[in-house]
Amino acid sequence: MEYDVIVVGGSYAGLAAAMPLARARRRVLVVDGGLRRNRFAHHSHGFLTQDGTPAAAIAATGREQLLAYDTVQWLDGKVIHAQRIEHGFRVEIEGDGHREAKRLVLATGVVDHLPPVPGLAERWGTHVFHCPYCHGYELNQGKIGVLATSPASMHQALLLPEWGPTTFFLDGAFDPDDEQLAKLDARGVTVERERVERIDGELDVVLYSGRTLALAGLFTMPRLDIASPIAAMLGCEFDDTPMGRTVKTDFIKATTVPGVFACGDAARLGGSLPLAVGDGTMAGAATHQSLVFGQI
Ligand code: FAD
Ligand code: MG
Repeated sequence: MEYDVIVVGGSYAGLAAAMPLARARRRVLVVDGGLRRNRFAHHSHGFLTQDGTPAAAIAATGREQLLAYDTVQWLDGKVIHAQRIEHGFRVEIEGDGHREAKRLVLATGVVDHLPPVPGLAERWGTHVFHCPYCHGYELNQGKIGVLATSPASMHQALLLPEWGPTTFFLDGAFDPDDEQLAKLDARGVTVERERVERIDGELDVVLYSGRTLALAGLFTMPRLDIASPIAAMLGCEFDDTPMGRTVKTDFIKATTVPGVFACGDAARLGGSLPLAVGDGTMAGAATHQSLVFGQI
């Protein structure tokens, strides 16, 4: 078989998974579609030693350091099909034939489905965010909005006052009960029931009446989808979370399908660069040990 391992997805989790395999001189192919989840943000925050570094630069350095190992190959492309074959797996790459390996690591990340408010998508990653730990500090304690997408947005609305005075735009997504209203009140959150019409200017939230609130930052919880159907094609099980499905894995990042490992945002709830890198490192070492010791 041509490769020991094919890693699907060559961003933070996939690069980290390939590293221990490269350092064990295993033949690894990384296939990457080039659509990192954070490509809309200029700078990345909170990753120790890389705080404030451009997100693209962190990925580029990781790729450069990985490709210095001569048993690693890189392919720009999209895996569109995967199946089990004898002693391994065969994947199909769009417009580029098949590749085979003994093991697969899925590091495909997720796709954010943003609420359909006009003007919101254009500001995603620059003024509109989902993670306050990544982007809250830089708002300098200015006015913050939370745009509800479901009852789970309560969590964001209660958390965000840590970073600035917070308005919770319900936008018809749900109707808090008395207990929830009391909790919001205790955190000093202003509840806004009027529907949001659009976002204008730098970050002006325009309501249907024309009333406008200028904000420093807006947070929302997009619905998440795993970026690729190949985990499902292979028969992997999933976990349901309030934000969407994740590939079910155990503590060494093995999926429910023997020989298939998964890591990063696609295989855990709550994503960040450091978590994706830690997850990928575990998946890579576990994949290597499954090659040494057989299926584990
Ligand atoms: P991704 O980085 O999303 O990479 C997945 C890769 O797999 C992509 O390159 C994709 O093209 C590829 N892929 C998918 N399907 C296939 C396929 N079928 N075939 C081949 N390749 C495929 N985190 C921080 O720690 N700090 C921050 O400041 C921060 N800011 C963020 C800002 C925004 C706007 C967003 C949306 C997220 C931010 N995050 C931040 C979170 C961070 O982007 C993710 O946690 C991280 O990118 C997850 O890494 P990953 O490798 O799992 O997935
Ligand atoms: Mg960022």
